[in-house]
Amino acid sequence: MRITEVECFDVFAPAAEPQFEWRDGLRGGPVDGRVAVLRLRTDEGVDGVAVVPRRGSAVVVADTVERLLRDELIGADPLRREWLWERIWELDRTEELSLDLLAVVDKALWDLAGRYYGSPVWELLGGFRREIPAYASTSTFDNLETYLEVATQCLHLGYPAIKLHAWGDARRDAKLCLAVREHVGDEVPLMYDGSAAFDLADAIYVGDALSDAGYLWYEEPIREFSITAYKWLAERVRVPLNIAETSDGAHMNAADFIASGCATFVRVSTELKGGFTGAMRIAHLADAFRLRAEPHGPTIYARHLCMAISNCTYYESLVTTCPAKREAGISATGMVAAPPGPGVGLQPGFEYPAELEQYVVDLDEAALLHREAGAS
Ligand SMILES: [Mg+2]
Repeated sequence: MRITEVECFDVFAPAAEPQFEWRDGLRGGPVDGRVAVLRLRTDEGVDGVAVVPRRGSAVVVADTVERLLRDELIGADPLRREWLWERIWELDRTEELSLDLLAVVDKALWDLAGRYYGSPVWELLGGFRREIPAYASTSTFDNLETYLEVATQCLHLGYPAIKLHAWGDARRDAKLCLAVREHVGDEVPLMYDGSAAFDLADAIYVGDALSDAGYLWYEEPIREFSITAYKWLAERVRVPLNIAETSDGAHMNAADFIASGCATFVRVSTELKGGFTGAMRIAHLADAFRLRAEPHGPTIYARHLCMAISNCTYYESLVTTCPAKREAGISATGMVAAPPGPGVGLQPGFEYPAELEQYVVDLDEAALLHREAGAS
């Protein structure tokens, strides 16, 4: 099989409604923009697609396809994913590609492989489970009372665990984390995500509160450039760290976070870690050290990773409103089902042109099919 066409679609992506923040001053909800969908076609009539959901990717991916990727991919065997993955990293040496670009070809190649073999990608990757609990991952709310209300609502909606994104103010956030623990009781797993708000002193202050309140993990309190800073933090707080979400360098850099001893959990995703191939390298490396690799973000790609990776706990589901709403495809007991495939497909929410509609996954229908088949 050979790749015969490399197409880039310019797709309208509407703003998040309502808009939200990860912490004060750090926008979470994207505004209107244009995103790229890459489609690879072959001489055997099998194709593969991948979306780059970051606004603005339409221009960047189209440019990179024209200058580099089309020449690289036309004529290549799409089933040789490892070889093509190494080629993309080779191009990166002079191009300094964005993390999105390091991932997009791999994501499309895995989608293509799934369609070729007639399997969902999570199954091709090893198929560890068919469903997993989802945690409610909040955005930032105005005040403590709203967080407590949202926490209650999330538990009512069936979410078994909650992760807070708060204000990025060490004193206020520490107080909030203690109050939420008090509010939900000792049995509910809680996590906190600092969205890189702190220096070491503030990170220790929040970490002490999380340790006292028995939080499951403490995510990305500091920008993920200095592994030494994280090593010092891990030496000073008891709460386990969940890190290396946004660190550059994919598996190679995640390896150093692991080797330094600061990570109990590591973050994996397709979009920031070189696609499925990079994400699975990190998950396997973490597993060898008996660490967990937790998929990042509410995407169709994360759903596949959650089903494939043995050493992960949860799917991350966003809650950005009060009253809280349950994301599509999550059951009343907070479970998310394995996507049906074949391949990966495209996540809903963008205004895809007619020729891409065939790839869009209906998450509610996928969950229904899963329940009818009986979870195992
Ligand atoms: Mg995070």
